[in-house]
Amino acid sequence: MSSLSSQHIHPDLRINSYGHYLRNRFGCRVSKVNVDAGFTCPNRDGSKGTGGCIYCNNVSFSPRDTLAEIPLEEQVTAGMAYHRQRLTSEKFIVYFQKYTNTYASVEHLADLYQRALALPDVLGISVGTRPDCLTDEALELLTRIARDHYVCLELGLQSADDAILERINRGHSLEDFTRAVERASGRGLDICAHLIYGFSGEQPDEFIKSADLLNSLPGIRSVKLHQLHAVEGTELAAMYRRGEFTPLTLEQYVATAADFLERLAPRISIQRLYGSSPLEIRVAPQWGLKNNQLWYAVLNELKCRGSRQGARYKE
Ligand code: SF4
Repeated sequence: MSSLSSQHIHPDLRINSYGHYLRNRFGCRVSKVNVDAGFTCPNRDGSKGTGGCIYCNNVSFSPRDTLAEIPLEEQVTAGMAYHRQRLTSEKFIVYFQKYTNTYASVEHLADLYQRALALPDVLGISVGTRPDCLTDEALELLTRIARDHYVCLELGLQSADDAILERINRGHSLEDFTRAVERASGRGLDICAHLIYGFSGEQPDEFIKSADLLNSLPGIRSVKLHQLHAVEGTELAAMYRRGEFTPLTLEQYVATAADFLERLAPRISIQRLYGSSPLEIRVAPQWGLKNNQLWYAVLNELKCRGSRQGARYKE
């Protein structure tokens, strides 16, 4: 095992949590505020593909009061008020989450990002996008913004297995992801990778190797890990009803998530350990846990093992 006394690892949580990373970096409690800026996705409108990823229903991604019809400033103000009251947050990162948030002209992107950054107490932006939807112009724009503000670039990989990416209709390859990370590295951006565990045919050992991949890409600063779950209106929900998708059990997910964390470099902070969706559209799995209970289920697994993030990280 590698050293357990890594400076990045929170002694109680046993991981490098993104919340603590932000607190250490900015000296106060920082929350992300979701906005719907009216983007669409090239994997839905035909330019990369149609139908979208088999699990995609963007209603499940964001709070219900983030609607593109509401001016961005109003969405941010409402989100900040919520986080101020609930978590006593002092500063904020505006999170462009829904669909593909670099899929527009660079002028339109600049307008949206700058409007968000002009609001009081906003430290920066977090931009979720596909690895194959990052033009040189968009990258230059984010690089310029990052000179004065925090910028997190969230790149969806979801699986490091090209055969799975094909089966889930992602419309991009692993190489698209590694190339995007290489292009975005060294520009002052915090790069976050999204991964999902639970695709049919993926063995735990194979999934856990994706930690090695992230470790090997020096630009990766954080990760979001989700369980695969089917929500209404998706191909995955239809597959579940046809008996073609068997969801993981809670125990399987927790064990593999903990294995993944043990292999992950301590320098990579953890933004999420679960995916959530409104109860009324959730189809499967139904684990009966609230989001923070799932987060702590994984952390408790590390605790029960006497382990922590990076315990099996090989430099
Ligand atoms: S890339 Fe994102 S927004 Fe586009 S179809 Fe896939 S999950 Fe949905």
